[in-house]
Amino acid sequence: MHFDDQTYARHAAAKIALIRSQDILPEALIGLVEQVLPLLRQARTQARVELPPAETCATTEAMFAGSPLLLRQHFPFDLEQAVGLMPPLLDILEASGDAAAEAAQALRQAFSSGGLDPEAVLRGLAAGDDTVFAPWRERLPGSPRALDFVATCALLPSLNKAAEELAARLPENLPHERGHCPLCGSLPYISLLKDKEGKRFGVCSFCGFEHRVRRIACLYCDEGDQDKLKLFRVAEYPGVRVDVCETCKMYVKTLDSRDLDQATLPDLDDMASVALDVLAQQQGYKRPTLSAWGF
Ligand SMILES: [Zn+2]
Ligand SMILES: [Zn+2]
Repeated sequence: MHFDDQTYARHAAAKIALIRSQDILPEALIGLVEQVLPLLRQARTQARVELPPAETCATTEAMFAGSPLLLRQHFPFDLEQAVGLMPPLLDILEASGDAAAEAAQALRQAFSSGGLDPEAVLRGLAAGDDTVFAPWRERLPGSPRALDFVATCALLPSLNKAAEELAARLPENLPHERGHCPLCGSLPYISLLKDKEGKRFGVCSFCGFEHRVRRIACLYCDEGDQDKLKLFRVAEYPGVRVDVCETCKMYVKTLDSRDLDQATLPDLDDMASVALDVLAQQQGYKRPTLSAWGF
């Protein structure tokens, strides 16, 4: 969604205030996101990405058959920018609390001693390769997703930029029978209902692209049988519903921008509706993706 900086800052501040007032997520986490938002917003305007030649992308025919334009590991991003964002992200992490501070110090130490290579971390995340990340989740039990968070945030601005530019290469009238992202093939972390007709969009958990999906279908297993699909709402959270699938037992939250009295900011609205994740998970449904922030 495109807002000027001032409008964005006002909407973001309102969402952060709402998240804080709910008293569900720890303040350290809320403060962390609050600090990171302007850094990433700024970086988004400076990101430089080089798009891959068209012949290395999926053909129109393959895309109509369901292939994404690019595989995740081939998705372009601004490596130089992402490496440069890691130190300020570690500083913000360090300032956000005890466990996070310890994690930030340990990671900084590992980066400076050569024990951890920032490029390998970023390429590992882009490729969906967990081998660099898994040991750090064990080594940092107080803040297990610290490295995921830093790497995810470092990549976000240029992945978002690349997605925006690559979207121009999507063929017209591409069918949207599947829930995955047509640019990179990743799963959506949340979905949106927009426009008067309530067209539904998935928001990609990797590149952030908002792509059209079927209104009534599971975004994870593509189940389309209405009898297998249910949804629930909670009065305290107007404009958010939870879509659950009895076939794969996954759920996704859906933001109805027509009911929300504020602008939709999927990454923050996801945090502002975390109570619904708790409810869905208590009922035995799973969420296959992380937040936009890597935790
Ligand atoms: Zn994507
Ligand atoms: Zn399903």
